[in-house]
Amino acid sequence: MRALRIIVCIKQVPHPDEAKVDPATGLVIREGVPMVLNPNDYFTIEEALRLKEAMGGEVVAITMGPPTAEAVLREAISLGVDDGVLLCHRAFAGADTLATAYALARGIESLGGYDLILTGSRSTDGETGQVGPQIAELLGIPHLTELIRPIEVEGDHLLAWHQTDYGQELLQMPLPALLTVAKGMNEPRLPSLRGKMRAKKQTIPIWGPQEIKAEPDRIGLAGSPTRMLETALPERKSGSKMLEGSMAHQVDALLDHLADMLPGKAGGRR
Ligand SMILES: Cc1cc2nc3c(=O)[nH]c(=O)nc-3n(C[C@H](O)[C@H](O)[C@H](O)COP(=O)(O)OP(=O)(O)OC[C@H]3O[C@@H](n4cnc5c(N)ncnc54)[C@H](O)[C@@H]3O)c2cc1C
Repeated sequence: MRALRIIVCIKQVPHPDEAKVDPATGLVIREGVPMVLNPNDYFTIEEALRLKEAMGGEVVAITMGPPTAEAVLREAISLGVDDGVLLCHRAFAGADTLATAYALARGIESLGGYDLILTGSRSTDGETGQVGPQIAELLGIPHLTELIRPIEVEGDHLLAWHQTDYGQELLQMPLPALLTVAKGMNEPRLPSLRGKMRAKKQTIPIWGPQEIKAEPDRIGLAGSPTRMLETALPERKSGSKMLEGSMAHQVDALLDHLADMLPGKAGGRR
């Protein structure tokens, strides 16, 4: 059985219940908003740890973000990840998904060898789902999105089930490869006391463009072909109605309510 070196990409995001957009600039407000580990990335970390436990090897987490993003690396270490590295420098600011993926790809190459790269399927703030596949393209390795069952590694290949728009597919691909992990594919563990102690003490290297040998015109705003023209938060609609009584009564009330919503059908079903 081969031991695996697994890199997990994790992102710090504003708490999903507190996300705010600056109406003047259209940018996500990060100051004063509690920042957390992207919820999807817990499934990524869990999958990496299970593979390491089954096959041996190590798991290294990488993130690009402001100095506060160090917290998500410490959280990953508290869950059992071996090491973490933070890509943080003024020159990385203003990066779109391509410039983000480029910096992460350079960072991953600077970490040395790897067998597998795992990312979340989507972040809860940008939510494009582009970063994982873009990293794979930049590194010239195969990838699949929406992993839904544990990976099986056989020699230099892996077998993995993923979700597509049309159903589920079993794919075989050579290592190294990148997989994006679907939300809910496993049950993420809680941190151990020992893990929390280790996370507090661990030294987290902070790398800038020089450490990852990045080309200046491919990072940050300079490396970002995307221009954000406008953003808007979805309108929050309240007004839910609780149905009461027996099941038959509730079904009847629901059908009446739906009938009322049909154009030209106001007044109920009967
Ligand atoms: C013009 C423009 C300017 C921007 N400027 C800024 C800015 O100044 N500051 C800023 O914070 N954002 C900025 N953004 C947003 C930024 O580009 C995205 O947050 C980032 O590229 C990730 O995209 P996403 O959230 O859609 O990730 P997705 O592709 O939905 O994320 C999927 C997975 O990729 C991995 N991943 C994503 N981002 C990271 C990361 N940073 N580190 C490690 N893993 C990651 C995670 O595993 C995640 O689960 C800007 C966007 C645009 C278009």
